[in-house]
Amino acid sequence: MTPNPLTGLSRLCIHTITTKPWSIEEAMDKYAQIGVGGITVWRQWLDGHNISIVGDQIRERNLEIVSLCRGGFFPAPSPAERKTAIEDNRLAIHEAAQLGAPTIVLVCGAVPGQPLEESRKQIADGIEAVLPLAEEHDIQLAIEPLHPMYADDRSAINSMASANAVCDHIDHPLVGIAADVYHIWWDPDLEAQITEAGEKDRLFAFHICDWMTPTTDLLNDRGLMGEGCIDIPGIRAMVEAAGFDGYNEVEIFSDRWWKSDPDEFLLAIREAYLTHS
Ligand code: ZN
Repeated sequence: MTPNPLTGLSRLCIHTITTKPWSIEEAMDKYAQIGVGGITVWRQWLDGHNISIVGDQIRERNLEIVSLCRGGFFPAPSPAERKTAIEDNRLAIHEAAQLGAPTIVLVCGAVPGQPLEESRKQIADGIEAVLPLAEEHDIQLAIEPLHPMYADDRSAINSMASANAVCDHIDHPLVGIAADVYHIWWDPDLEAQITEAGEKDRLFAFHICDWMTPTTDLLNDRGLMGEGCIDIPGIRAMVEAAGFDGYNEVEIFSDRWWKSDPDEFLLAIREAYLTHS
C-alpha cells in the first residue's frame, strides 16, 4: 500500500458509524478526499452490497481496511440462541474475509440477570467455537472491553483485566483486545493491563473518542476528542509504549454530531485528531 502523503493523518482511521448519515460509498470517498488513512466498516454498511467489490473500492481509494464491526453477543439463556449467535459470528468472519478486513471487533454480550461469570464462560465458549473458521481465513478476533455501565446487556467483559483473562484462557494468537478509551479511561490498573496486553501481542485495535460531562445518553453521547475528560494522548502513549503501532480509530456515537453537517464533522474530526489525540 502506498503511504498516505498527509503524514499526520496516516494512522487516522474512522468508523463508518461515526459518520452515520453517509453510505459506505460516501464515507470511503470523503475519508479519502481529506487524507484519512484507514476505515473500519460496520456490518450494516454492507447490507445489500457485494462485499468483495466494496473491499476493492476501498483499497482503490488508498484506504486501509482496519476492522469489521462487529461480532460478539455470545451469551444467551438457551443453547439454541447461543448457537444462533455463533452462526452470526461465523457469518461475520466470512464477511471480513470477503471485505479484506484483518480483524473483527467483538462486543461480547451479556444477559440481564444471568451471572456475569456465566456470561464470560459463554463468551469464551463462543469465541472458541468460531476460532477454527477464523484460523481458516486468518481473521483476528478483538475482544472490546466495555465500560461497566454496559455490564447488564452489552458485555460481561468490562475492563482490560477481564479481557486479558479471557485471552489468557483461550490462549490463541488470533484472539486479542480492542482497547477503546471510552470504556477503559477510568481504570486505575489501566497502564499495567495495557502493558500486559502488549507483552502478549494481543493489542489488536485502539479506538478513540471522548467522555462528555454530563453524559446525557449512555450510548449515543460520545464526544469528539478534546470535548471531554479523557486523557487520550496519555492512553495513546501507553498503548504505543506497549508496542501498538496500528491505527487510531475514531468511533463516535453521538446524536448531537449525527445531526450536524457530516462534511463539517469530518473536518472537525481531522482537526481534533491532530490537536487532541
Ligand atoms: Zn470501540
